[in-house]
Amino acid sequence: MKPKFTLLGKNFFEKQNLKLIGILLFTLVTNQTIYSQTVVERYGKLQVNGSHVTAENGEKISLAGMSLFWSNAGDGGDFYNSQTVNHLADDWKSSIVRIALGVKETWDGGNGYIDSPQAQKTKIKAVIDAAIAKGVYVIIDWHTHAAESYETEAAAFFGEMAELYGDKDNVIYEIYNEPLDTTPWNTVKNYATPVIQAIRAKDPDNLIIVGTPTWCQDVDKAAANPITGDPNLAYTLHFYADSHKEFLRDRAIAAMNSGIALFVTEWGTTHFSGNGGYNPQESQTWMDFMITNNISYVNWTVAHKNEDSCVVSPGMDVQGLINGNLTTSGIFIRNHLISRAETLSVDNFTINNVKLSLDQNPVKDILSVNSSIVIDDLTVFDMNGRSVFYEDINQDNPQVNIGNLQSGNYILKVSSNNVSTTTKFVKL
Ligand code: MG
Repeated sequence: MKPKFTLLGKNFFEKQNLKLIGILLFTLVTNQTIYSQTVVERYGKLQVNGSHVTAENGEKISLAGMSLFWSNAGDGGDFYNSQTVNHLADDWKSSIVRIALGVKETWDGGNGYIDSPQAQKTKIKAVIDAAIAKGVYVIIDWHTHAAESYETEAAAFFGEMAELYGDKDNVIYEIYNEPLDTTPWNTVKNYATPVIQAIRAKDPDNLIIVGTPTWCQDVDKAAANPITGDPNLAYTLHFYADSHKEFLRDRAIAAMNSGIALFVTEWGTTHFSGNGGYNPQESQTWMDFMITNNISYVNWTVAHKNEDSCVVSPGMDVQGLINGNLTTSGIFIRNHLISRAETLSVDNFTINNVKLSLDQNPVKDILSVNSSIVIDDLTVFDMNGRSVFYEDINQDNPQVNIGNLQSGNYILKVSSNNVSTTTKFVKL
């Protein structure tokens, strides 16, 4: 059976050729390549601004990528290497990769960080260094359901990582993977405080993400009683599409409305167990939700274990990933990441070195351009190059209503003093 993959209502396979032609035209028009800048060069140091994790310049963004499997597991395959990172970045267009540093589990045979710190550090450094070299973001996640049992070790570990990598904009610290449903939020806060202090002693500014109770569904508890005193903290939301649906999206919106920023460091296309219940429809609803609300999201997981949420076919290692031996979920996620990178990437959008930007992308009805110079006119082309909207503007910061356009991918052209520039956007 050939599954049907969609992004924002577009059929991926049918639109692919037209999309490629459109991108080629766009590349020629702007005389630059689509991926000329790395994602970290483009967005810089991530910042919490109100209820969003934004680029360094305050632009609202949604990063998307892949999480590796428990680093202390013997059954996930070994993907902790530069080949994996490079392939995810180049082929999957993953803008972020997550390390799941296994801390200590009854099943790990002493391979976890507590028992084998040097081996685990060597293993994860290969991934961190590859992500930095590649120019993608990397989350260093303390992967345990009982981080408060290893507070001293966590503080020492994250302090060491902050000293090593704190000057790299790529690096994000995730200090507690998933507190249990029996772990009170105050226990998480009490654990987080010294760990955050250890990081800030070495790195004053990189993003820190804190887990929330009930396997990171209780973002409302963090919203009601957030950690104070650090301006660059976000909170973790995790979901599995077949188990957690509208109620959790409603809870996420309420938490953001109360002022905290969320980061989906882990989500799956399946039942919460990671096995069974592959649900592409609900996954798509979630991905549209996260793009629309500028939330970053990282899929669980790059592994070959015989579980539906794993993206590599059972038993295949990194060569299987590189050769495209993927599960149904893996094919779905890869297609989504590639398609979204093509439509949501924003290149240098400048006129005579004056930088322009879209206030929002995707656009619902109002297309709003941030510009410090007067824009003479504004034209929207579909991906076949047909002009579908034109307006004479003659003002700075133009806003136009494109609510009548169909959902899809478009190219915007703006002109000022007979010089034009273009960018891409998605109309919802
Ligand atoms: Mg720093």
